[in-house]
Amino acid sequence: MLANSLIELDRAHLIHPVSSYRGHERQGVRVLKSAHGATVTEANGHQLVDGFAGLWCVNAGYGHDSIVEAAARQLRELPYATGYFDLGSEPAIRLAAELAERAPGDLNRVYFTLGGSDAVDSTIRFVRYYWNAKGQPQRDQFISIQQGYHGSSTVGAGLTALPAFHAGFGLPFDWQHKIPSPYPYRNPVGMDDAAITAASLAALKAKIEEIGADRVAAFYAEPIQGSGGVIVPPRGWIKAMCDLCKEHGILFIADEVITGFGRTGPLFACADEGIVPDLMTVAKGLTSGYVPMGAVFMSDGVYDVMAEGAGMAAIGHGYTYSAHPVSAAVALEVLRLYEGGLLENGVKAGARLKEGLTSLADHPLVGDIRGRGMLYGVELVTDKAKKTPLPAESQPARHIFDRAWDNGLVIRAFPQGVLGYAPPLCCTEADIDAIVERTRKTLDQTLEDPAIR
Ligand code: PMP
Repeated sequence: MLANSLIELDRAHLIHPVSSYRGHERQGVRVLKSAHGATVTEANGHQLVDGFAGLWCVNAGYGHDSIVEAAARQLRELPYATGYFDLGSEPAIRLAAELAERAPGDLNRVYFTLGGSDAVDSTIRFVRYYWNAKGQPQRDQFISIQQGYHGSSTVGAGLTALPAFHAGFGLPFDWQHKIPSPYPYRNPVGMDDAAITAASLAALKAKIEEIGADRVAAFYAEPIQGSGGVIVPPRGWIKAMCDLCKEHGILFIADEVITGFGRTGPLFACADEGIVPDLMTVAKGLTSGYVPMGAVFMSDGVYDVMAEGAGMAAIGHGYTYSAHPVSAAVALEVLRLYEGGLLENGVKAGARLKEGLTSLADHPLVGDIRGRGMLYGVELVTDKAKKTPLPAESQPARHIFDRAWDNGLVIRAFPQGVLGYAPPLCCTEADIDAIVERTRKTLDQTLEDPAIR
């Protein structure tokens, strides 16, 4: 009864992010009521294993009392303090210091945002400011990668390279350029690691030449492309791209909004790949999704150029909720939990997940299985030899997501027929086994569905 009235209220009033408005009106909302560990429960009592940690963000898992207590303590003591001007709060300062200590190389400066989109947006502003301060204002062209995702702000969505984020919005801007994705499974050069990296390097070089090396401001890359369909570049690919940017004096920006905080194993994928970007964005796992927060890590070099350039003038970039003390208090506790065993558990659970998903390789619908740590993609095809994608017109993602849901499993189903997995790092062996078994059942049902074949 309550659920039905909620569904009607939702239909009448709530606009859902990244959804078909008309499609949603027809489908109606699924209301989540509670969660614990890796299990979420619907308002109607249906329980599911959350194989996607909310939106690849609840890395610590649900129901940690210590996180709730950290937030409650901070809410009581000081629920808000601006970071504007020369003001601040203890948790934000401590968090910046803790993060800087763990970040790769000289990424010693941290700017807090409310999430990933405004973190990316901030980098665009910082990059422009940096080049102006350096006396090279003509460096105003940005390069990112097809299938990349860099958020949903007006300018960040132009760096994002997914059609739904551009169509109807007048994006991308003419200063936003793209090179092809390294996408091993569907790369025209084949699946050989060295060939893929060479092709990406050639594409980036060609793009730099086309724009003019002295006009390129920055290049953006995700260590693993998330929203594009969990696309995993070869090991060494990101280092090669980073080195090429540094050779040309182009700022290299790593977007670790998904890959940060244990998603691929270590705290940061960049450290694992042996690179030090000039700027790095994080969000999601920073607070495990309990409250909103994102951050930009800035190298000492970039910071000093901006600081010197501004002199005693204010650098006009800030949000009311930058460095929010409650979010910072949560992030500090989440970090403690990661290092107190969750990262380690994530590595173990991830190995089991990898093994489990790999056991699906002989399923007639499974074309490719890829991933690292607790981040995987399973690409479905109707013909393995030809790598034929599922027919887009029958909206396979919608069908597969619904079926998995009914089977007690939350996954992400990308439009092109890729299943995304990013479970909480706290998963038990039983959680992982349930994810794999429920996936198998969903695939078997999909195979029998004439609408999708
Ligand atoms: N960058 C990447 C790599 C992301 O995956 C996302 C979100 N999925 C964002 C930026 C934007 O983050 P948010 O949704 O918190 O604004």
